[in-house]
Amino acid sequence: MSTPSDSQRMEKIVSLCKRRGFIFQSSEIYGGLNGCWDYGPLGVELKRNLKNYWWRVMVHEREDVVGMDGSILMNRAVWKASGHEDTFSDPMVDCRSCKARLRADQLVDKKGVKQCPNCGGKDLTEPRAFNLMFKTYVGATEDESSITYLRPETAQAIFLQFKNILEVSRKKLPFGIAQIGKAFRNEINPRNFTFRSREFEQMELEYFCRAEEGMKWLDYWLEERLKFYENVGIPRAKLHARKVPDEECAFYSKGTYDIEYDFPFGRQELEGVAYRTDYDLSQHQKASGKSLEYFDEETKQKFIPHVVEPSAGVDRTVLALICEAYAEDEAPDEKGKMETRTVLRFHPRMAPIKCAVFPLLKNKEQLVAKAKEIVDLLRPHMNVFYDESGAIGRRYRRQDEIGTPFGVTIDFETLGEKDRQLQDTVTLRDRDSMKQERVKILDLMQLLSQRIA
Ligand code: ATP
Repeated sequence: MSTPSDSQRMEKIVSLCKRRGFIFQSSEIYGGLNGCWDYGPLGVELKRNLKNYWWRVMVHEREDVVGMDGSILMNRAVWKASGHEDTFSDPMVDCRSCKARLRADQLVDKKGVKQCPNCGGKDLTEPRAFNLMFKTYVGATEDESSITYLRPETAQAIFLQFKNILEVSRKKLPFGIAQIGKAFRNEINPRNFTFRSREFEQMELEYFCRAEEGMKWLDYWLEERLKFYENVGIPRAKLHARKVPDEECAFYSKGTYDIEYDFPFGRQELEGVAYRTDYDLSQHQKASGKSLEYFDEETKQKFIPHVVEPSAGVDRTVLALICEAYAEDEAPDEKGKMETRTVLRFHPRMAPIKCAVFPLLKNKEQLVAKAKEIVDLLRPHMNVFYDESGAIGRRYRRQDEIGTPFGVTIDFETLGEKDRQLQDTVTLRDRDSMKQERVKILDLMQLLSQRIA
């Protein structure tokens, strides 16, 4: 259960996200669409930094992984074979008192009696299976033969292209195929801001291996993925690897871990790391009649590989990054009086804007010209922001609130007016310590690149 201060913290985060352009309600002017969100100018940068970093460590920095980008709509046969059409459902109940539609596993249990979490009502319907896939029709006729679904996960396209990718990439086991893309689930109860949405993005890797090595790779990927979260700024102490009990696992899984994070609204899943055995490829081979086997040139044997799947949610991780970064501390205002400062302490690697550039005064042509020169110098290498309006302290504060890790100020010393030795130097301000150092413009690029790499 979250404490009042946790829910207040969450409210502040949601309001900051809107106020500064990280996340907006989808279709807001029409009253919104439950479970759907739009990312604004800063949100889209944060999300892109996360996806790019995932791609970098999961694909570019590895010999044994290649990428793909599959379509969202696929042949309905895919969802029959994968089991989604029959079993991808949550148990749903209706509260007869307040008419709320609820997930049966999220009811409140008071001394063995199930209650509605909204109104406390006990008059509930029996649970019935509710399929989470969005149904749609392909082509001009809306009948049984044209039905398909928006994909509820990205993984299936990887299984379907396993053979093509094996041939073109000439990889040998163990190797993986990675994909980032949208997924859709008609969640019964979207909630906790973007945490449980109806449209979201996943970053998935299917890592194919020999059956006898499945458990080894499960442990390996769990550890790699925990390191990943640390490298984007989520401390290990707030991450939890939960071994999913056998009775909760899919029947074909030989082991699943949930990587959880302590959100302000409780400990919740960021990613599942599952050893799915040879279930998916076997199902598709059976249903399509096409071989999805791997030929081992050394032993001359053919077999269906096993697979370990780390499956992460982009939106959930973005939300975790924002929650983790959000802080309030104290900083002096213009007159030196201490005031509360809101700051997003993003890891520089994730920060939407890496560096803000400020001329000390906007009506001094030389300061402005120099500041614009610095913007031109940095812009090809990183996302920078130029701001000349308002008192310098206020400009710093605006950047603190959106998590910009570095601020460069061009002052009269930069122009060499006070001390020739300081000509062509600027102050570099650190968001977290608020400390300033004097650095040469010539060294700025390298210094910043190192810190945001
Ligand atoms: P949950 O139990 O929270 O519904 P899940 O176990 O069904 O999640 P998976 O099917 O393992 O989730 O999906 C892999 C990842 O995709 C999740 O760890 C999560 O990060 C993301 N994800 C799944 N459903 C949603 C959703 N409705 N909104 C946002 N992200 C989601």
